[in-house]
Amino acid sequence: MAQRFLMARPLTDEVVARARAEFDVEIRTETSVLTQDEMIRALQEFDVVMPTLGDVFGAEVFAVVPNPRCKLLANFGVGFNHIDVAVAEANGVAVTNTPGAVTDATADIALTLILMSARRAAEGERLVRTGDWPGWHPTQMLGEHVTGKKLGVIGMGRIGEAIARRCHFGFGMEVFYAARSDKTPGFDVTRVADVKSLAAAVDFLVVAVPGGAETRHLVDVDVLAAMQPNAHLINIARGEVIEQAALIAALEQRRIGGAGLDVYEFEPEVPQALRDLDNVTLLPHLGTATEEVRSNMGHMVLDNVAAFFAGQALPNLV
Ligand code: NAP
Repeated sequence: MAQRFLMARPLTDEVVARARAEFDVEIRTETSVLTQDEMIRALQEFDVVMPTLGDVFGAEVFAVVPNPRCKLLANFGVGFNHIDVAVAEANGVAVTNTPGAVTDATADIALTLILMSARRAAEGERLVRTGDWPGWHPTQMLGEHVTGKKLGVIGMGRIGEAIARRCHFGFGMEVFYAARSDKTPGFDVTRVADVKSLAAAVDFLVVAVPGGAETRHLVDVDVLAAMQPNAHLINIARGEVIEQAALIAALEQRRIGGAGLDVYEFEPEVPQALRDLDNVTLLPHLGTATEEVRSNMGHMVLDNVAAFFAGQALPNLV
């Protein structure tokens, strides 16, 4: 029986062409997340499935398909918190992801958000577009200076370090971080005991930890309360790491300088309360959204699929 591969989303042209050339592949044309029925069919009818963000392969779906034909979930993306890896493994399904390919692009979006939030760029752009800009004057739209300020990184992994590097070398910022282990990136960084102390010490607090149960609401009401009134909170990781309701309250009461978000707790829902605020910059999960990065991610998925079909070790087993 031919080995079958399901790609749960259309990818870039070059990745689609390679997938069709190398595998017996079915490529789903919809861009929406998989339904429960689609996930069940995926596990029953394919040897390998490429899921991505929002495709919740959890205990519920594996309970319906306890002995799946599928033996590999080759996730498109480095974040895999939508997959219950322990349950997948217990059902004989390996999981791979796409680390590294996403690092620089996601760090670039963090810098975009730092600058946009600090310098009120989205608010200013709206002002120009609506025709309400009265012209330059010395005290108009004063934001937060970035160069030389203090950066705090929650989760100094690949992306966290790439953000710190840009801030250190590009903006002369002093870098602090909270993590589970000491990091030595090759430039000066200072580890802070916990997230709350980090929040109290910095001007820009950036979230770069994986999502999932372990980090859910790591930035909670107490962490937000510890932040300085001028400080900005940036999230390029996963929405659920920040207690969104508490962030909305802090922004509404102007207790922090602002926030820049690429991800949301109940994505793709973005609460009206957040959309009504001028002191938050809202991006639609743009972290890795460039043609070359999405192609690199796709090739990484296909490399894992090829290794699996060849019976070789999986390059990016999580
Ligand atoms: P990574 O290299 O695994 O880095 C994650 C870091 O988080 C590690 O340094 C880890 O610490 C730290 N960490 C984990 N749990 C922690 C905890 N409870 N407290 C403090 N630190 C903790 O991952 P990455 O490649 O940088 O990616 C990070 C996340 O970014 C992904 O999981 C994904 O969800 C998100 N992401 C978002 C986008 C986007 O489009 N916005 C794009 C790519 C990735 P140790 O090193 O000590 O274990």
